[in-house]
Amino acid sequence: ERGRLSRLRHTPAVTLDGQKVELLANIELPDDAEAALRAGAVGVGLFRSEFLFMGRQGNMPDEEEQYLAYRRAVEGMQGLPVTVRTLDVGADKPLDEGHRDEAHLNPALGLRAIRWSLAEPEMFRTQLRAILRAAAHGRVNMLIPMIAHATEIRQTLSLIDFARAELDNRGIAYGEVPVGAMIEIPAAALSLRTFLKYFDFLSIGTNDLIQYTLAIDRADESVAHLYDPCHPAVLRLVADTISECRRQGKPVSVCGEMAGDTQFTRLLLGLGLRSFSMHPAQILAVKQEVLRADAGRLEAWAREVVDSEDPSVALGA
Ligand code: PEP
Ligand code: MG
Repeated sequence: ERGRLSRLRHTPAVTLDGQKVELLANIELPDDAEAALRAGAVGVGLFRSEFLFMGRQGNMPDEEEQYLAYRRAVEGMQGLPVTVRTLDVGADKPLDEGHRDEAHLNPALGLRAIRWSLAEPEMFRTQLRAILRAAAHGRVNMLIPMIAHATEIRQTLSLIDFARAELDNRGIAYGEVPVGAMIEIPAAALSLRTFLKYFDFLSIGTNDLIQYTLAIDRADESVAHLYDPCHPAVLRLVADTISECRRQGKPVSVCGEMAGDTQFTRLLLGLGLRSFSMHPAQILAVKQEVLRADAGRLEAWAREVVDSEDPSVALGA
């Protein structure tokens, strides 16, 4: 199977009815760009930058170290786009064991991701400058994790402007960087109008979206059986986000585990998704599903699945 799939590496991901689909890679470190290219990814849809920060006993990478790491990923992708997500630490992603959050009752609901970055603006601006500088060497998008409030959006965008002004003042080169938001908190999926007003693109993080929609800790084994991507509420949030973005002509992708799970490829295509980001090892299997799918014909069926009482049965999953 692997050998047969590997022949699809250079085959464009196009459905039977001629719909072009973008298959992107999720990476953790700059050197993963090589695996992404080998798998036939047409870009990096999610570079989880927190891996540069983790396990260093609180010693943060400075601007130069971060710039070189982002640049390395960008150059590694040889002209293909790289979406760098700003730091997403806290809860299931502690900076290191010393930072594991035992002081708070609900760390997943606490100071994590963009909330942490906005609480540490110096650190955040250092990362923003490094990302902007890497964009002088190729196509870079910036992705903001765990954002829900209009105030957070405006604060984030003004810090990005400030970081650009700092580089201008220092006479340092940087590039154009479209800015997007992760849709991974139900509140964000339910206030798309605000998100679409401010952001250039959206990326749906189904891992956290499932956790927060269903109130199921994604790391808690004792409730793992209730962690259900097929819950109608989850599917409705995903479906509405995709259709609203398409209506407004804004790029949207899914970068959570659902995007790399072949059980969901046809459903997501039917809901109108044309951009999937996943672990490089999953790309060829998803491509095979794309090549076999008739996206137009899947539309009505996908709506029925989302509206059914038990979508996992309707899906045949
Ligand atoms: C997600 O939440 O779906 C996601 C892609 O981000 P992470 O798994 O890193 O939280
Ligand atoms: Mg997430």
